Amino acid sequence: MLQKGLVIRSTGSWYDIRNEDGHVYQGRLKGKFKIKGLKVTNPIAVGDRVQFEVEDVTENTAVILDIDPRENYIIRQSVHKTAHGHILAANIDQAVMLATLTLPRTSLGFIDRFLVTAEAFRIPTTVVFNKTDILNDEGLGYQQEIMDMYESIGYSCLATSATEGDGVEAFRQLLDHKITLLSGHSGVGKSSLVNAVAPGLNLRTNEVSTFANKGVHTTTFAEMFELAPETFIIDTPGIKELGLVDMAKEEISHYFPEMRDRLNQCRFNNCLHVNEPGCAVKEAVGEGNIAESRYMSYLSMLDGGDNRR
Ligand code: GDP
Ligand code: ZN
Repeated sequence: MLQKGLVIRSTGSWYDIRNEDGHVYQGRLKGKFKIKGLKVTNPIAVGDRVQFEVEDVTENTAVILDIDPRENYIIRQSVHKTAHGHILAANIDQAVMLATLTLPRTSLGFIDRFLVTAEAFRIPTTVVFNKTDILNDEGLGYQQEIMDMYESIGYSCLATSATEGDGVEAFRQLLDHKITLLSGHSGVGKSSLVNAVAPGLNLRTNEVSTFANKGVHTTTFAEMFELAPETFIIDTPGIKELGLVDMAKEEISHYFPEMRDRLNQCRFNNCLHVNEPGCAVKEAVGEGNIAESRYMSYLSMLDGGDNRR
């Protein structure tokens, strides 16, 4: 009998498939799947919705017969453009960029680079600032400025303290019934926040890896954690080189929403918003309508500079 399932873990040859009752089978692929126009090493990724048949009830095995079309996916491009890419996760509802202004300090450049990548993959992102309990008044004021700045661009923001419980209920609601890619530097509190909303899960400190801080050489297995019914977070190792690899210079400003809106006002339609006369983006920066920090992040990405840290 054909069943619908969700791939919650992938090892490359075996896939954990969760059916609609929450039962998990070890599935493998039957036959070859080819996705049109896409050169990838893995036909199935975490987050894929599949049709499968139970193969052996006692062994708990299954065969995957079909894959539903994807809403979106994130792919790690090979450094060599001709080689195959690797799909890290599919059907992601949203991303959370978890940041801390101190201990560790998440730079605005790092946040912006993530936001640009998420824009390119069409994944809506909320920026969450954790560890608010360790900020003094000055720090809290600065955090509010940053949050106002991102909200003025259209990104929702949230302030939390995993240890004190502030904002934890709002965070739980944000994740509710969604598949969320949770990202942020090691030590910002990803595991702590997840444990705060789903104590049963009992993640070890640092268990949730990050979107960006793992090296190129780590494995590419991804995993989904079920926090509550139909509520998942995705943990994907090794996305470091993802994103800007395939982005043309002219394309980058399209992923800054506040620049995107002004591009047709630049005098030259191939304007890169650096030194060109009649540039609407530079003008908006000068007038304070585009944040200086965002423009600096833009220039750094244009430069191919690495501002991930
Ligand atoms: P991860 O690497 O992103 O998963 O971060 P962890 O959840 O492992 O947290 C790293 C450290 O920060 C741990 O010692 C946590 O107890 C601490 N931590 C996490 N959230 C908060 C918070 O909101 N406030 C404070 N003061 N410490 C926190
Ligand atoms: Zn311009």
